Amino acid sequence: MNDVRTIHAVSHTHWDREWYFSTLDTQLFALKAFSELIEALENNPRFVFHLDGQSSIFDDFIRLKPKMAERARRLVQQKRLLIGPWYTQPDLFNIATESMFRNLRIGIHHAREAGYCMSVLYLPDTFGSHAQLPQIARAFGLRHILLRRGYDPQLMGPTELCWEALNGDCATTVITPFGYSLAHPERGGRWRNFRPAHFDEETFPLITRMKALSASPDLLCPIGGDQVSCDADFDRLIAAVNALSEDRWEVSSYERYFATLASQTLPRWRGEFRTPRLSRVHKSIGSSRYDIKKANADAERCLTRLAEPMLALARRNGFSEGEEMLEQAWRWLLESHAHDSMGGCNSDETNRDVLHRCRQAQQIGEAIFSLHARQLLANLEIQTPYRFLVLNGTSSPAIDVRQQTLITPTAQFALIGENGEPIRVVVHRQRQVQLPRHVLLTPDGEVETEQQCWYYENIVDLLNVPVPPLGFALFYVAPSQRPMLFPLSCPEALAIENAHYHLSLRDNQLQLLEKNTGRRLTPLLQLRDISDDGDLYDFSPLPGDSGLLFSHFTLSEVQQHPWQQSLRLHAALRLPEGINDDRRARSDRLRVVNVTLTLTLEDDMLHGELTIENTVREHRMQLLFNTGQTIAAVCADVPFGTLTRTNQQIADSTDYAERPVDSEPFMHRLSPHADFHVFARGLKEYAYQGQQLRLTLFRGVGQLGKDDLLYRPGRASGQRQATPEGHLPGELSFHFALCLGTHSPAQLAVREQRFSAPGRLWQWQHDRTGLQRLDNFDVFIPERDIAHRQLLSHLPQGWVISGVDVLYGKTLVRLYNPSSEALTIPEDWRGYVCNALGEKIEKAVLRGNDHLTLDLSQLAHDRPV
Ligand SMILES: [Zn+2]
Repeated sequence: MNDVRTIHAVSHTHWDREWYFSTLDTQLFALKAFSELIEALENNPRFVFHLDGQSSIFDDFIRLKPKMAERARRLVQQKRLLIGPWYTQPDLFNIATESMFRNLRIGIHHAREAGYCMSVLYLPDTFGSHAQLPQIARAFGLRHILLRRGYDPQLMGPTELCWEALNGDCATTVITPFGYSLAHPERGGRWRNFRPAHFDEETFPLITRMKALSASPDLLCPIGGDQVSCDADFDRLIAAVNALSEDRWEVSSYERYFATLASQTLPRWRGEFRTPRLSRVHKSIGSSRYDIKKANADAERCLTRLAEPMLALARRNGFSEGEEMLEQAWRWLLESHAHDSMGGCNSDETNRDVLHRCRQAQQIGEAIFSLHARQLLANLEIQTPYRFLVLNGTSSPAIDVRQQTLITPTAQFALIGENGEPIRVVVHRQRQVQLPRHVLLTPDGEVETEQQCWYYENIVDLLNVPVPPLGFALFYVAPSQRPMLFPLSCPEALAIENAHYHLSLRDNQLQLLEKNTGRRLTPLLQLRDISDDGDLYDFSPLPGDSGLLFSHFTLSEVQQHPWQQSLRLHAALRLPEGINDDRRARSDRLRVVNVTLTLTLEDDMLHGELTIENTVREHRMQLLFNTGQTIAAVCADVPFGTLTRTNQQIADSTDYAERPVDSEPFMHRLSPHADFHVFARGLKEYAYQGQQLRLTLFRGVGQLGKDDLLYRPGRASGQRQATPEGHLPGELSFHFALCLGTHSPAQLAVREQRFSAPGRLWQWQHDRTGLQRLDNFDVFIPERDIAHRQLLSHLPQGWVISGVDVLYGKTLVRLYNPSSEALTIPEDWRGYVCNALGEKIEKAVLRGNDHLTLDLSQLAHDRPV
């Protein structure tokens, strides 16, 4: 029986910015490849080429080769060289929600500036997707998504579907189930690599398999490869295959192909793309290279909770500097979000680049904060020398400031708000410091003058500081006669407690008592260490290894303070130093891995800080939470909501491209029960078994790709290259928190933000103590009336702030509804509702798990929303 279809052949290159090679390698190659591409497009008007659905590689090229920029832009305007909508093709499980929005905002902006932005959200190689991608696409007016990995025909049906996000937004989604290289990656999209026999051996059998999965009369066939140069003879290749094929082949584009689906009713899919049925999704890549996962989480937090809210507030008060540097910070960070980069499946050299860009982004974020904090504070209460502001980039009406430096004129002091209200302060350390020397320029040269003036430098926590969400508040250092309360070390104590919890060390095991329910959890925490014979893509234990469990801790110190109590513990784990060369067993040689754990009780949160001095190789460490009852499913956060996952009972996993192990992603929060919640920073992977919630801390593996893993048989992913830095030798630190009790989705989201993004203080320093890098710069600060201390006049119950996008002159505040119940949009917000590009839209109700963007750019200065 003849099954003749129209096959849309699309010429493209998949361009990994970096991987087992560096960005500089690909840029050098792009100079040649893209110059040839421009020539080819100019010489052949029927030729259309896709530059991988991202605009960063086009930007890099025209920056490096400006003399070709006009010719390149002309081809973009003619829709023959297609770029965007992404800036880079991100990993979707290891980055924050606002990062996905910035990626599209910047990608679309640059593509439009070049002349045209492709309207298909294209992710041919990203390792699966979370369940909310259709919502993010629709926020930018994009209705078409093209994916490859994570698709399972047994779950999802045909390769053309209507993908519905948790808020009900839909996007027409098409899967290219066998990848983006016609038949054979080595042939890419190049006519010169094909012989007619290849069509029979490779191409046509593949098309037959694609037909079996597709319900559409039109099939999509991307033809290209990884970092391939273009094929100027692409239409000859298609003519040749057309002459031999029973199907109708035509040179097409992704946009043209999606137009053929416009009239079709497609089956619905609601959920994530994460099944390794036809292609590998690398389910455990979230725990590869913890160093970059953490650096990225730190940088994301710095930009979204510090720099952007501060820049928006400064702009509202008439200061406007820093936007261009902010865009630069995002571009560096987004370059680090490319799937191979943030996945961690990269070479050691590339990983260092990823890390460096994350740190640069963070540096810019901190500089933007300190420049604007100074300008605002310079115009507020100028006669009071010891004053400071605290910025709140979260949704919480009160925040904490942690481990920050505060300068005081005296050893004893109190902190008060503008109405004289006292602020809770915990002084961890205090030292007396002499003021810096002045340097005078005299006819005899420089003369240093020593100042016999002293001040006190305090490392403080400020607790429960009232600061409006997306706002700042002013505070003062006041003289005090009362002695300061430092945390007291109590040598005889074995426990800490407050109104909610009692945490003790009994028989060297941690025991937590929840006071209002009487629930006891023993041992509360354990560490699990298991061999990892995998690579930077996938965890893979040695056959039969069930891991080593550690729950024995030794007390180092108990510290008590009226508002904060801490238990400091340590353990010396004796772990095998690696895996033997025969890959059958772990080494008999043991090394000591020192662990310190500090647990601090504050209100209904138990904060944890874990430090591990990693001295061994080829292993994975998990932190185990005893939840006290059998876990049936875990609720994990995704953008604007949560997803509940259960362990899969897969008896036979031979029918998968990789074993569908129960390692799952989360962003910031996990709830294994309705009254048990764990928060973490920079950790991305969990599993559960019995009563245990298992948080993966890190994996240490020294190989980029490896053949024949236990959980991933067959060829190596990537290159078989040694990556000794992937073992993560040295000190690693982890932050987590535990909260027991039943709370609404919004309350949990607010708690998470308060935990993840403490407030930041900036203090006026008339003595030039130089607390932050830029504080001593001589800056002209114009006089302004600082009329606005918050971006929103109110944040109704149930609403959570996602972020503030301040790029390209706009101030876009994004909020969301984490619950499944709809919320009414306040009347006074309705005139500002827009899409993620700042284009006005109408919306009166916010559905469950939906988001809302408000354009506050044009707001009159005297009228807060
Ligand atoms: Zn790729």
